[in-house]
Amino acid sequence: MFDKLLVANRGEIAVRVMQACEELGIDTVAIYSDADRNAGHVEFADEAYNVGPAPASESYLDQGTILDVADRAGADAIHPGYGFLAENAAFAARVEDAEGITWVGPPSEAMDALGEKTTARQVMQAADVPVVPGTSDPVDSAAEVRELGDEFGYPVAIKAAGGGGGRGMKIVRSADEAEDALESAKREGEAYFDDATVYVEKYLGSPKHVEVQILADEHDTVLHLGERDCSLQRRHQKVIEEAPSPALDGALREAIGEAARRGVREAGYTNAGTVEFLVEDGEFYFMEVNTRIQVEHTVTEEVTGIDIVREQLRIAAGEELPFAQADVDINGHAIEFRINAENPAAEFAPTPGELETYVPPGGLGVRVDDAVTEGDEIAGDYDSMIAKLIVRAPTRERCLERSRRALCHFDISGPETIVPFHRLMIDDERFRAGEHTTDYLDREVDADELVAAVERWGSSAAGSGADGDATDEHELVVEVDGRRFDVLVEDDRPRVASNGGADAGTTTGSASSGSSSGAAATEQVAAGDAITAEMQGTVLSVDVEPGDEIGAGDVVCVLEAMKMENDVVAPGAGSVAAVPVSEGDSVDMGDPLIVLE
Ligand code: ADP
Repeated sequence: MFDKLLVANRGEIAVRVMQACEELGIDTVAIYSDADRNAGHVEFADEAYNVGPAPASESYLDQGTILDVADRAGADAIHPGYGFLAENAAFAARVEDAEGITWVGPPSEAMDALGEKTTARQVMQAADVPVVPGTSDPVDSAAEVRELGDEFGYPVAIKAAGGGGGRGMKIVRSADEAEDALESAKREGEAYFDDATVYVEKYLGSPKHVEVQILADEHDTVLHLGERDCSLQRRHQKVIEEAPSPALDGALREAIGEAARRGVREAGYTNAGTVEFLVEDGEFYFMEVNTRIQVEHTVTEEVTGIDIVREQLRIAAGEELPFAQADVDINGHAIEFRINAENPAAEFAPTPGELETYVPPGGLGVRVDDAVTEGDEIAGDYDSMIAKLIVRAPTRERCLERSRRALCHFDISGPETIVPFHRLMIDDERFRAGEHTTDYLDREVDADELVAAVERWGSSAAGSGADGDATDEHELVVEVDGRRFDVLVEDDRPRVASNGGADAGTTTGSASSGSSSGAAATEQVAAGDAITAEMQGTVLSVDVEPGDEIGAGDVVCVLEAMKMENDVVAPGAGSVAAVPVSEGDSVDMGDPLIVLE
């Protein structure tokens, strides 16, 4: 096994990899940009090196500097995480060539063969895996696009051969759109993937996105760990992923898993990888291979109990997979919610800013992968993902209920996030039924509902006033007759905000009068020789006057706050020296109500 591993990445995936290293006794090396000096992955690592300025092109993508750091730190392995250099076959080849450093990933030739979409389609066809109808050769002219449109029927998709994440894909709905779409797909391919090669495939109307997790060692064992359903997408980007897919029956599940195994075996692939398919009308079609660990690998880990990153490391170190296909059991259900700093009410626009509150949920079946803490700045330089919430339960139904609980307790404020969107989805009929397809969110989810969800559950709704508005809100915790309330104080008007961060609600009614028993009487305290108001409110009645002798527990006045009457009781015996308030007065927290001798 390796002694010291450099993670060529940042954020939660860097921490995830380092956690696996720690369990295997491997020392860890972080790299960071100027924007990430105090980032979570830097804190987690055993040592850390600055690789340049904030823009990724000058730091996390700087191959030469990263290799120099690996050398300087004495690292004997590099794990690329996902994104950045993870699917860069040229970088993998440079690592393979570097003396004494192992690439934790597939061989660079296999990355070449499967990472490029047209060659991947050819490899899959050779392995008898059905591919989305289309061409497996590059397409150069609008005339060819029109020919293929006639052959397969519109719409067709022009896709960048190096593309991914929905980038470099243009949909052509009729012959006259071919010209413009071709030009723009080429432009995007060139800009994002440094490759203007494009090809054409049939654009399926309402498919499911189903992908298979693969693990393959260097001793000829190729296994699949079941599938994930990533059909809940926004503009072709995954937002919620789950395992297993609610849309497959046993026969289709078996067929897809076996097809994925055949395909990667054909390419001489090793390490972890994902084979992506579209499923429509009971048929499945190969779409592409991701030659790396994926964001959503977590749900597979939760239902199989297999630590995929650990296996990546073991495979790269030349070890054998410690189990066979028959040993891979799928247990229960898991769902991953990406917690992105984006505003669902504003077309999911990114919302960089300071994480003012960050208290993720916990408890049975709840896992949070992150690399942030409260007070961190969510920088605009990198992607918008703050964390991943992964929820596991014995059935999908129970997983949804548990997810509701976990989302409800994800206490996060500062940047707006997509938590309100997730909470909306938990009660969405199509999603609950598992019938959603890749076009569902873009086509069917109502923008007004998203706005309402953000108003109800969003960052500023939590009472932080942290949405950039200069409000005067702050939260106050009070206990009245032994019951706890979170009070939102805004413009001198108190409102009951919530209990424990759960749904906002309003409490009405009267506190029981005359309550004086011990801990219950916490709405007032004696501060020096005064009884002060423990909350903002209005004086309803004053029950003592100067010269009165009072005993512990006597009601000295009644305050109205949070639409409730609250008895203010004496904490101990004494005589009243002065009463600075009278009926109808407004008082602030801390104001003296009764002064004692
Ligand atoms: P990835 O994001 O997984 O790297 P792609 O860019 O190939 O891969 O695909 C992203 C998403 O775009 C898919 O999950 C699917 O929603 C959509 N998509 C891609 N190809 C097609 C197609 N031929 N028909 C319909 N939808 C497609």
